[in-house]
Amino acid sequence: MTAETVLAPLEARLPDLEALYADLHRHPELAFAETRTAAELARRLVASGYEVYPGIGRTGVLGVLRNGPGPTVMLRADIDALPVEEKTGLPYASTDTGLDTAGREVPVMHACGHDMHATWLSGAAALLADGRASWSGTLLAVFQPGEEVGDGAAGMIRDDVFGPGGKPDVVLGQHLVPGPAGWVLTRPGVIMAATDALRVTLYGRGGHGSRPETTVDPAVLAASVVLKLQTIVSREIPATESAVVTVGSLHVGTTHNVIADHATLEINIRSFDQQVREKVVAAVGRIVHGEAATAGAPKPPTIERIDTFPVTANDEATTAALTAAFAGHFGAGRTMEAPLVTGSEDFSEFGRAAGVPSVFWLVGGLDADTVLTAIAGGRFETDVPSNHSPLFAPVLHPTLSTGVETLVVAALHELAHPADEAS
Ligand code: ZN
Ligand code: ZN
Repeated sequence: MTAETVLAPLEARLPDLEALYADLHRHPELAFAETRTAAELARRLVASGYEVYPGIGRTGVLGVLRNGPGPTVMLRADIDALPVEEKTGLPYASTDTGLDTAGREVPVMHACGHDMHATWLSGAAALLADGRASWSGTLLAVFQPGEEVGDGAAGMIRDDVFGPGGKPDVVLGQHLVPGPAGWVLTRPGVIMAATDALRVTLYGRGGHGSRPETTVDPAVLAASVVLKLQTIVSREIPATESAVVTVGSLHVGTTHNVIADHATLEINIRSFDQQVREKVVAAVGRIVHGEAATAGAPKPPTIERIDTFPVTANDEATTAALTAAFAGHFGAGRTMEAPLVTGSEDFSEFGRAAGVPSVFWLVGGLDADTVLTAIAGGRFETDVPSNHSPLFAPVLHPTLSTGVETLVVAALHELAHPADEAS
């Protein structure tokens, strides 16, 4: 009832949201370079009556709408693009370039749908502001930079994103996926994997290849570390849990007759459970230090975290309630359980930092006939371009309206309603 009232002007607003989406898609910006994007999103929040705090976590934007007593609900959208050359052929395809972390000019594309996320939240924020007579509480609209590089959410939290509007009572977010447009997929508990990437430097003592007795050989030490790391998953993680420990890069030495003085390993860890994750990361540290001590290394190894994403875990009770709210709004045919996703997200940093429940759901955005035909023919993986593909081309309808509706329905479910208190 309330959602229908707040969503009533959506259809009239769609041309404006289409224009916003096409503009963001045509002008994507890499992580922490989203200045043009942030300025436009901030401008729209101001126009809707939000207090606006730009520059949080470098290029993030917070909008606060205080609307009487009640819960504080945070809605989050990420806004960064990827160094991918767009090949969709869409009329609003990007031909823009940006500078990567090494300062090289690279093509840039919204290949992960964050332009859609930003448009959804901008639309929902405007509708909830116009429909503020229907609810009571505080809304936080958070446009987060740098999701693709894993430090965007953490950066906003370090920069006190909860300062101006207070801590939320619940954090909500969504991601565009290569499902049929208009489908909404939810999953209680863990929905996406955690990633930890570590760079380990092992120190030895270099010398002549003919006189190993004068050295501590980091090649032998590194080999021993690589093998010992294989015992973490096989010997320390219960059979009912899962994790991956991959040494994706190992560098030592320059030539055959010199024993090097250090070795470098890059390790990628995937897990679906926070306790398993902490156990694996701790075991890597223990093994690396232990092997270095055993080898008589002249100094302890260093371990740098080069990339990190938390497990995305949904609060079970809130997810169940929102799933029912979505099914009530869209009908059961458009809502279903999401699969476990091996990709990673930094969305859940916000809920963890605030110590409150969070829910992250998925919205399909590709042509439904194409997707369903590919699934029926067993060709989904090969025929349907997914997130991060240069061919990832979401259809506008009903993708645009669906993601606005989910945010409005979910926010209203969590906010207070003056009519409830009167009755
Ligand atoms: Zn992505
Ligand atoms: Zn993404």
